[in-house]
Amino acid sequence: MAGDWEIVIGLEVHAQITVKAKLFSGAATAFGAQPNAQVSLVDAGMPGMLPVLNGAVVRHAVRTGLALGAVINLHSVFARKNYFYPDMPQGYQISQYELPIVGEGELTIELADGGTRTVGIERLHLEQDAGKSLHDQHPNKSYIDLNRSGVALMEIVSKPDMRSAAEAAAYVTKLRAILRTIGSCDGNMQEGSLRCDANVSVRRPGASLGLRCEIKNLNSIRFMRDAIEYEAARQIAVIEAGGKVAQETRLYDPDSGETRSMRSKEDEQDYRYFSDPDLLPLNLDQSYVDELRDTLPELPDARKQRFMADHGLSSYDSSLLVADRETADYFEAVADGRDAKLAANWVISEMPAQLNRTGNALACSPVAADALGGLIDLIADGTISNSIAKDVLSDMFDSGKPAAAIVKERGLEQVSDSGALEAAVAKVMTDNPERVADYRAGNNKLLGWFMGQIMQASQGKANPQLVNQLLREKLAG
Ligand code: ADP
Ligand code: MG
Repeated sequence: MAGDWEIVIGLEVHAQITVKAKLFSGAATAFGAQPNAQVSLVDAGMPGMLPVLNGAVVRHAVRTGLALGAVINLHSVFARKNYFYPDMPQGYQISQYELPIVGEGELTIELADGGTRTVGIERLHLEQDAGKSLHDQHPNKSYIDLNRSGVALMEIVSKPDMRSAAEAAAYVTKLRAILRTIGSCDGNMQEGSLRCDANVSVRRPGASLGLRCEIKNLNSIRFMRDAIEYEAARQIAVIEAGGKVAQETRLYDPDSGETRSMRSKEDEQDYRYFSDPDLLPLNLDQSYVDELRDTLPELPDARKQRFMADHGLSSYDSSLLVADRETADYFEAVADGRDAKLAANWVISEMPAQLNRTGNALACSPVAADALGGLIDLIADGTISNSIAKDVLSDMFDSGKPAAAIVKERGLEQVSDSGALEAAVAKVMTDNPERVADYRAGNNKLLGWFMGQIMQASQGKANPQLVNQLLREKLAG
């Protein structure tokens, strides 16, 4: 709500399906290949080529539909959507129109106030991606890279059920977690495997839907939020100034933080859709769908509930852990037989920091779950402190050695011997009589300073709980 306006948002998400070949050809789809290295004659739109449907793509689309609790249409049809793009040599995109493979479903999002909202899914259909025009390679020529041409996409269309940029962000986050969990899309927005078009309109609460603008190709959740907020404010300003919102397609410019008009919105008839005569209708058996339903992995919502119930984790931490299957599996392996909250903290904060530093993905982390578990065991039994453990983890990433070996080699064991600690406390107190007097006169904040001195002198190895306890005793006089 902005003043007495309500923002209405519907999202179209384009998700690249994780398969090695394209939707209708055997060409490869790996990211980062040389331009035009992955283009078959079908993808190049050569006359007389025939598309052949990739069965793995169909499997992923059905599994995704099932994960969204959606209707699976046993009969669906591929249609030609006719339009011209220089990087789309066929002159049409093969998509699905009246009869998509997946019909209505729903997705539950968590709201900031702890509540939930169910967002309707309108449909999920299969379509080809287009190639890419490169305008920055030559001063007065554009180049074309067809590697993406014909790559299999799922377009997942929501109902206009979201009411704020934050809800839209929660929707994309949840959708991405589901796609990653079932493995139908890697969800990588930077590489363009997940892109989002945001439809935004505004209305007085209770009024019928306003005219929408569609902001194309948002490739990060933050850009999407900013674009929606800017666009809603722009529309409100237009209407409040007595104008009318034009239904159009707009582009978001992250540098200026503004959306600008790209073209007036095409009508459906502009595309002259018709069923593709090169492709038979897609007919699925119910038994095929049932088998895919039976073999779906545990979905993020269910897994999250289980993490909260079995491990006593917060809703927030659980959501982070179930964002993809690897992280959730990794966490479960680390938490097995250990303090789950400690395990969650390390998986959520320290691991990503190290993975980031060393440029690794969790799936190929040099520190496997049992190795991190070994480190956590050393914290739990008091061998090392939490802050020393961070340093040990970094060392584990660099050296590949187990935590215990590093602690031993570098002599990092925590000092919990009360004799040694008492001596350290006594020394700091003798060296700093005026601070002791100050503390005793009521300056309690100095406790932190004393702690700092002892931790520093021990190179972080003194057991902080014991030091704290001893200091309080001795300083009390
Ligand atoms: P198009 O092909 O025109 O993009 P789609 O059916 O693919 O149409 O997608 C329409 C999207 O716009 C859906 O996500 C839908 O929820 C959303 N939408 C429709 N009407 C409105 C509206 N008034 N305000 C905001 N979003 C809307
Ligand atoms: Mg659309």
